[in-house]
Amino acid sequence: MAEETEIRDTDIVFDCPHCGKNLVIDYRGAGLPINCGGCGEQILVPIPDGMQLNDLDLNQGEILQQLFATRRNFQKAEQEIASLRTTLTQMRETLSVMADVMEKALERK
Ligand SMILES: [Zn+2]
Repeated sequence: MAEETEIRDTDIVFDCPHCGKNLVIDYRGAGLPINCGGCGEQILVPIPDGMQLNDLDLNQGEILQQLFATRRNFQKAEQEIASLRTTLTQMRETLSVMADVMEKALERK
C-alpha cells in the first residue's frame, strides 16, 4: 500500500499508545477517538496545546478552539469515569473478600 501522506503544518503527529505506530491526523480530528491503522485499537487523537491555527480565518479558529476545549473537558470526564470504575472494581473485590471472611466466621459457629 503506497499511501502518499503529505504532512501539513496543521496535522497532528503522534504515536499510537498501544503499538507505537506513527500516526498523522488532520487537525480537525483533535480530541476524537480513532482506530489505529496499526493495531486497530481505539485511541484518542491528542489535542495539541497552543495549536497553530493561523492558517484559518479568525472565526473558524475561535470555533475550533472552543470545540477543542469542549473535547478536552470530555476527555477529562472520561478519564475520571475510568478511574472511578477502577475504584469501584477494587471496592467490589474488597467487599467480596469481606463477605468470604464473614461467611467462614459464621460457619465456624
Ligand atoms: Zn496502534
